[in-house]
Amino acid sequence: MKGNMLNWDVTVPKLIDHAEKYSFDAEIVSRELDNSISKITVGDCLSRSRRVATMLLNFGVHQGDRVGTIAWNNSRHFEVYFGVTGMGAVLHTINPRLFPEQLIYILNHAEDKVVFVDETFLPLIAAVQEHLQNSPHIILMGPKKNTELGINNLHFYDELLASTQPIENWTDVDELDAAALCYTSGTTGNPKGVLYSHRSTMLHSWAAGNALRFDTNSSVLPVVPMFHVNAWGTPYTTLMNGHKLILPGQALDGASLYELISNENASVLMGVPTVWLGLLNYLKENNLTLQGIEKVMVGGSAAPLAMIKEFNQKHNTFLVHGWGMTEMSPLGTLNLPSKKMMQLPDEERYALQTKQGYPLFGVELKIVDDDNNQLPRDGKAQGALKVRGPWIIESYFKAESPAVDDEGWFDTGDVATIFPDGCMQIMDRAKDVIKSGGEWISSIDLENAAVGHPDIEEACVVGVPHPKWDERPILLVICKGDLDKTSINEYLSEKVAKWWLPDDIIKVDNLPHGATGKLLKVELREKYKHHLMEN
Ligand code: ADP
Repeated sequence: MKGNMLNWDVTVPKLIDHAEKYSFDAEIVSRELDNSISKITVGDCLSRSRRVATMLLNFGVHQGDRVGTIAWNNSRHFEVYFGVTGMGAVLHTINPRLFPEQLIYILNHAEDKVVFVDETFLPLIAAVQEHLQNSPHIILMGPKKNTELGINNLHFYDELLASTQPIENWTDVDELDAAALCYTSGTTGNPKGVLYSHRSTMLHSWAAGNALRFDTNSSVLPVVPMFHVNAWGTPYTTLMNGHKLILPGQALDGASLYELISNENASVLMGVPTVWLGLLNYLKENNLTLQGIEKVMVGGSAAPLAMIKEFNQKHNTFLVHGWGMTEMSPLGTLNLPSKKMMQLPDEERYALQTKQGYPLFGVELKIVDDDNNQLPRDGKAQGALKVRGPWIIESYFKAESPAVDDEGWFDTGDVATIFPDGCMQIMDRAKDVIKSGGEWISSIDLENAAVGHPDIEEACVVGVPHPKWDERPILLVICKGDLDKTSINEYLSEKVAKWWLPDDIIKVDNLPHGATGKLLKVELREKYKHHLMEN
């Protein structure tokens, strides 16, 4: 027997409608390209989104067409987010840190009809425009400017907006229609498109807002870019709950972030570990402390123990580790401050906080061995981490075959352990785990231990071929002053098993990062592949 309740589609246009009625006075603070700070209410912002919708109709954009953005976290980008999806088109956020060949591939694959671009990124468009098959309209997100970049089809956002009437009604879409498109950074092969539906976006947003326990007074500062998995869904989550949203623009350095956090009373911060490293260094150098921060959500890569401690001991705040990926909208697990955790002695709690946490309702998790047999939740077994749920991918955009197995499980490419209470810990990317004499060494754990050493600023561990053990770890470090291998080894031997200690430690000036800030280990493995064979 079926239930009798209304089948009401959960869609972004309905969310906008709700926010216009009930969250209209929530504030959006935004750092502009000239470094000034602008303030606008959600109501005014969304009325500008209504003009964006008409603007798109005037350019011949139809329901389901893709519309690109290459922009920082700022209020125009927010307006475009909801103008595009509210009129039924698909918001395609583009990562400007991609290589030009990847940008060309993505823009052609998505067939964007219009691309909104912040001035910073106009040279990127100039460099690739002749290769774009669809000849998209380019809209510079700002006032009219004379540029000498020779861009065709160039229009100016502020001018167009001023001369456009707001759309009367948001489009009535089906909840299974596409709402947004993000491409994975594709460290190997072409980037792959993940096409979110209205339903997946709204369910993710409900779950994330609920799990993160944002309250109505929260002021959320997503440093994670709106071009990276929709800033972990923050624009939708804050709109749903009427929070103040603080958008940091292009200024992601410690000084600028501190200014924004303190002037705007941010209470929830969200970003990748590298960003927080910059902020913490700035605070340390200037003898400053953060006030009133409820939580710092960290994801994208593992948050080191030293960072968890520093946020707590010096800034009286709690680091919430989150894990997920583009294919998961992105949130999969969170490690929130449970009552049980808060009763533990500090050191034990910090150790627990390094784990990636518990799945939200809506995410099923399991680990499997090479033959796809499910492994136990015993905190020891390590295996391929598989997931499924209503905001998790089924197939990539335009792909001919599904991305999941017959039972709907998606292989995340991560290796994990699950503890008896359900807490999940990422051990490594499957391709980065080091297989030494039949045993596995987690490069992430070793890196995290290494960055606790006072001389080390950044660490990267890769497995390289070894004549006896198949593979052994080497540690590459960016460090202050001269490299002191003995001191690092002594430090590490207190933190990890002896057989995990790196076979060599090498000082480097910089480490290669991909478009989403992750270490590019493929490149390093190639570079150092003979290192231990020759020694
Ligand atoms: P990309 O576009 O580079 O794939 P994603 O953000 O989708 O970017 O990357 C997802 C991957 O990032 C995960 O599969 C995992 O390996 C890593 N990751 C994300 N969050 C964490 C975390 N909290 N700890 C460790 N690794 C993480």
